[in-house]
Amino acid sequence: MNVPLLDLKAQHRAIKDEVLARVHELVESQLFILGQPVLDFEAKVATLSRARHAIGVASGTDALLLPLKALDLRAGDEVITVPFTFFASAGAVHNAGATPVFVDVLPDTYAMDPAALEAAITPRTRAVMPVHLFGQMAPLERLLPIARKHGIPLIEDAAQSIGARRRVDGAWRMAGELGDATGYSFFPSKNLGGWGDGGMVVTSDDRIAERVRRLRVHGGLQTYFHDEVGTNSRLDALQAAVLLAKLPHLAAWSAARRANAARYTAALAGVAGVRTPVTDPANEHIYNQYVIEADRRDALQAHLKAQGVGTAVYYPLALHLQPCFASLGYRKGAFPVAEAATGRVLALPVFPELTEAQQAHVVDAIRGFYGD
Ligand SMILES: *Cc1c(COP(=O)(O)O)cnc(C)c1O
Repeated sequence: MNVPLLDLKAQHRAIKDEVLARVHELVESQLFILGQPVLDFEAKVATLSRARHAIGVASGTDALLLPLKALDLRAGDEVITVPFTFFASAGAVHNAGATPVFVDVLPDTYAMDPAALEAAITPRTRAVMPVHLFGQMAPLERLLPIARKHGIPLIEDAAQSIGARRRVDGAWRMAGELGDATGYSFFPSKNLGGWGDGGMVVTSDDRIAERVRRLRVHGGLQTYFHDEVGTNSRLDALQAAVLLAKLPHLAAWSAARRANAARYTAALAGVAGVRTPVTDPANEHIYNQYVIEADRRDALQAHLKAQGVGTAVYYPLALHLQPCFASLGYRKGAFPVAEAATGRVLALPVFPELTEAQQAHVVDAIRGFYGD
């Protein structure tokens, strides 16, 4: 039996007519740059995130880069983020002209460790960017007071976590609601994926919103007049049309991912050699990835591949050890939790359309590998 890590064709079969209707409408209009679909989609994502503004941009990477650029960072300024995340989190800091400063993650959820954040703040710290990794939120109610105390903005990397929420003081808080700005990605493999690249910034800060809106169109809201140097980073109207059709399904898809995750966690309980993912009890996880920690991870991955099961390692090398950041001077051992995770993590298929038979095959293959 074949079980891919992600089956986008299955999703497409189920919603083809709705998406193609939106795309057809756009094609008939021939209005491909910004326009109504982008405005409509921005309004819906702002509502979902309980934020005042949403600005569609070209990618999740730019959804982190542009709010950082809006902070007018200078050489030597520091932005604190985590080493166990997709490269873009730190790449955006570098490309915004600042220096990424890494702090270790918590061993259960891989979220930024609040104590480590506190210890890493210096007079040069200009922002903090925690990552809502794999679909669950970082503990913002612990990270935000630290940032506030030092007068530093907090930018949420919510590329993997649109629609995730967290209970804070008895009330649900959405990803994108509490931070000073938040970046989403609509890369096809995210829970809400387009037909190509796309991203969005949400913020309730009017100033950041205005700057990002300007930066995405070469720094000038009035065509051919430029207040500053920006870039071309608009959300493609075609992507907005696709995403508008998909957005009404997002909650059900994330619920299906949660149900699949719960089934794995029950079925893999007691398999010595596997640690199933830990959800912070305050979080509602959306499982962009279901990531186990496994003894003999690489051999398990090869075994699963031979059994037709697709898996992936997110992420095999922590960011502080990447060759491009060698000049930052970090050594192996600097972030033991992140480094240990890179050797043990393995993402299993958890996409919403995964069948129970497929899931049973994955579980049997894992049990077979460990001989129980
Ligand atoms: C996907 C992702 C990004 C970047 O998004 P793109 O749309 O691929 O540019 C940034 N941060 C994290 C954590 C991601 O998973």
